[in-house]
Amino acid sequence: MNSDSPSRIYYTKPSITELEIGYATDAATNGWGEHCYDYIHRFEAMFRAHLGVKHAIATSSATGALHIGMAAMGIGAGDEVVLGDINWIASAAPIIYLGATPVLVDVLADSWCLDPAAVEASITPNTRAILAVHLYGNLCDMQALRDIGKRHGIPVIEDAAEAIGSVWHGQRAGSMGIFGAFSFHGTKTVTAGEGGIFVTNDDALYEKALTLSNHGRARGETRQFWPAMIGFKYKMSNMQAAIGCGQMERIEELMAGKRRVFDYYHDALRGLPLRMNPEPSGTTNGYWMPTIVVDHDVQFDREELLAKLKAQNIDGRVFFWPLSSLGLFKAISSHRVSDSLSRRAINLPSYHDMTKADLERVVSVLRPLLKKI
Ligand SMILES: *Cc1c(COP(=O)(O)O)cnc(C)c1O
Repeated sequence: MNSDSPSRIYYTKPSITELEIGYATDAATNGWGEHCYDYIHRFEAMFRAHLGVKHAIATSSATGALHIGMAAMGIGAGDEVVLGDINWIASAAPIIYLGATPVLVDVLADSWCLDPAAVEASITPNTRAILAVHLYGNLCDMQALRDIGKRHGIPVIEDAAEAIGSVWHGQRAGSMGIFGAFSFHGTKTVTAGEGGIFVTNDDALYEKALTLSNHGRARGETRQFWPAMIGFKYKMSNMQAAIGCGQMERIEELMAGKRRVFDYYHDALRGLPLRMNPEPSGTTNGYWMPTIVVDHDVQFDREELLAKLKAQNIDGRVFFWPLSSLGLFKAISSHRVSDSLSRRAINLPSYHDMTKADLERVVSVLRPLLKKI
């Protein structure tokens, strides 16, 4: 890029203010000795209050939170966990760490999340959980999934890493399943640099997860260095939690930023042959990542669009691939919705404080290209 090039528009970046910097500095300066967990405990309390859940355990990642949670449920070799085929690998990897099998099902064309009918059809005597991943802020059909779960005695887990701000009929995403997991990676709506959290309302599952998260040392064990089982080490540091606390104080503002960006695109792209993240009545979409899905009946070359954006120094991001297409799992040719969505969709830049000029620049590339098709 030469010096005349417009500045780069990142697909996402965190919103960090003096507040986060002040807390991180305080943690680095004073957060040691008896204060080494202060910000972690405060972060967990703030997150519990935001979500309306009883228990939370901060972790180093959402991947770790899912691993601990599924281990606490006793998921292991021979077990199956059902999830949508379109997903980031982080949702499936913990299932494999535990020696269990991810069972991939097709997704719905409107929500891009797992299809409840396909979930029900995939259930076997080995099914131990349904993993509801709320993709790009879009909510899974929790009513249908919980009904299926009830009928078959199978719990629903929520991977809400992309769904901060999403609400299903009064309940926040991540608060409805047997447990929920969130990510605070730098690309997510709320960040701690890296980080995650395990949340649940289930007292027994919480105790089990807490022990597992502490290298198998039970709360109340009086002997030092006495693990009762093999656990995990997926802890969040006090310094990350300090940044997380600043973000939680600003969570309304961060969520509003995502909505403002989505609303701008939604208005500006009206009339083009595409659909964006849905928000069915009775729900709120957290709009982590505004996404366009170009209609079936139009010729559309995703690579051409991404190249045009790149030429203007704008990041575009491909929609997730079907996991079954990666070569890591058995290929499944019958997942027509997943295959088609993945080829017709991209994620748009969406950092919280994008200016109107930034947004206009993105739209000025999209409009002419999509109008002519
Ligand atoms: C980001 C993400 C994860 C992984 O989060 P980490 O904190 O990077 O482990 C898991 N699931 C979904 C749906 C995600 O978007």
